[in-house]
Amino acid sequence: MSSPVTSPHERSKPKIAVLGSINMDLVIRCDRLPKPGETVAARSMTEVPGGKGANQAVAAARCGGAVQMIGRVGDDGFGQKLLNNLLQESIDCSAVLTAQGCESGLAIVSVENSGENAIIVIPGANARLSAEDIHRSESILADCDVLMVQLETPQPTVLAGIQAAKRAGAKVILDPAPAATLAEALFDVDLICPNESEATAIVGGRLETIDDAAEIAKRLHAKGPAAVAITLGARGTMLYDGQTAELIKSIKVDAVDTTAAGDAFAGAVAVRWAQTGSLRQAIQWANLAGALAASRAGAQPSLPTHQQIDSLSS
Ligand code: ADP
Repeated sequence: MSSPVTSPHERSKPKIAVLGSINMDLVIRCDRLPKPGETVAARSMTEVPGGKGANQAVAAARCGGAVQMIGRVGDDGFGQKLLNNLLQESIDCSAVLTAQGCESGLAIVSVENSGENAIIVIPGANARLSAEDIHRSESILADCDVLMVQLETPQPTVLAGIQAAKRAGAKVILDPAPAATLAEALFDVDLICPNESEATAIVGGRLETIDDAAEIAKRLHAKGPAAVAITLGARGTMLYDGQTAELIKSIKVDAVDTTAAGDAFAGAVAVRWAQTGSLRQAIQWANLAGALAASRAGAQPSLPTHQQIDSLSS
């Protein structure tokens, strides 16, 4: 008798640590954006949990990871809401500290009828996440399979996290957003996953064709990371592992809102890479996660579950 087939998430729940930002997005809809000095009336305002760190934590949890969040919220009214949101996704928040006398990270997102937007980000408590906080979270980093980091928290903190995870033998995935150079840490990164504009911001050049993407991936690889995955929206992902540059295609979807497609991608890569040990397989699966997120409205609400991704791949 053949043994029952188990899907990767049934076989194991990888431990994913996410070091990053936790924000409340205040989404304000108006007929048109105000010009400098002008006042316009809004049609609505909604509070939407966000921040790249929190988005990627939610993405990884929905993909089947056991997720630990490392970050800071403020002691304002948003702090508890942001924590509750993560807890609802079964994310362990024991390493999410409250910054006293400080507001939570906020993004004021104004969107006009045309879809054009203007965003002001207030880093708030995210800017208080320190290298010392990371030392307090060493046991988490010592025990995780994968550490995911982005660049919305202070760079010395991100560096401390990368180095601690590396010492402990975890895989490190860096999403270099917002684009910045992080020269010191790149040799400790196992996978860097910028989108097109982040990739060119780091190494320069133009990225139009697939050949350009391969060339830019090679240039990024020369800066130290063991592997490079440049996400190319509907075109899929350019993977360069130091030997072969390969375009791994995504699937066709009706794109509604590509916000958080990159976060869905990163969370899915982390989980599936830890489960299978195959980066190529992880990227194929993560492309589906990104495509699903692009086919739905919103950031966190658009992040798919592993069942939804699996049902696309079967
Ligand atoms: P970001 O949100 O960081 O700019 P991308 O837009 O490149 O990231 O999306 C991440 C991944 O999601 C892509 O590599 C791709 O696999 C998938 N994806 C995004 N948009 C689409 C789309 N319109 N159709 C199919 N797949 C998509």
